[in-house]
Amino acid sequence: MTNPFDLGGKVAIVTGANTGIGQGIAVALAGAGADIALVGRSSADETAEKVRAAGRRAVLIAADLSTIGPVQQVVDETLGQLGRLDILVNNAGIIRRADAVDFTEEDWDAVVDTNLKSAFFLCQAAGRHMIASHEQTEDRGKIINIASMLSFQGGIRVSSYTASKSGLAGLTKLLANEWAGKGVNVNAIAPGYIATSNTAALQADEARNRQILERIPAARWGQPSDLGGAAVFLASAASDYVQGHVLAVDGGWLAR
Ligand code: NAP
Repeated sequence: MTNPFDLGGKVAIVTGANTGIGQGIAVALAGAGADIALVGRSSADETAEKVRAAGRRAVLIAADLSTIGPVQQVVDETLGQLGRLDILVNNAGIIRRADAVDFTEEDWDAVVDTNLKSAFFLCQAAGRHMIASHEQTEDRGKIINIASMLSFQGGIRVSSYTASKSGLAGLTKLLANEWAGKGVNVNAIAPGYIATSNTAALQADEARNRQILERIPAARWGQPSDLGGAAVFLASAASDYVQGHVLAVDGGWLAR
């Protein structure tokens, strides 16, 4: 029987793949059989090694996604080097912290431009290709946006981050509505509290760290590898009838 989670012969783009959640997802997709275009502004050699150790091809594509400048080039280089494009994981993201009364336009634009604007235009560039190449086939294109608990909750001192991640959840549903009938699934993963450099400040703050752990039913921070199963599911034929869903992988945080 065919394994519906098998990604053999597929090609995935993962943005922000040099570290953290992006690295965890890239390695998981490679473990399921996909070749990976590792996209980012820092060297992703370590991730490439892990992908190749899984027996898959890895290519590095340099792109600073603080603007939409490199978006089309990312898709073109992936097609040029790996020959096809089946999966896009929009993972690259940043966070800035300040009280709302002091929040600067610079901190607003930096976060919204990277987390929301570039993510949308990458969906558009990849989506155009996927619609053209997958609409007439059994095989579906798969887009996975990396959302957040702040796609559901308000958070505090992170105005632009909350706006970007709530916006990304909305766009995930909008794109699913437009593309579900055109051969493309668009879904999101909302990670809970995952131990990466993005959350280093929270982990280092003893009081916040304790409060966070007290609220997580699983009683631990998540690891980047904890996102792998959800990513493989949403990238594979196993999720062909899942559309516009924001899948929390949060150790139970939202259940509290
Ligand atoms: P991370 O370790 O800081 O990784 C962020 C990634 O995004 C890095 O690869 C980073 O590259 C890349 N990136 C940032 N700005 C970029 C730019 N302008 N161009 C290209 N790449 C850029 O954090 P993470 O926790 O793994 O975060 C990954 C995603 O998960 C983000 O979207 C984040 O919002 C989301 N998330 C994280 C958590 C969590 O608890 N950690 C929870 C919910 C959602 P550089 O190394 O070059 O900066």
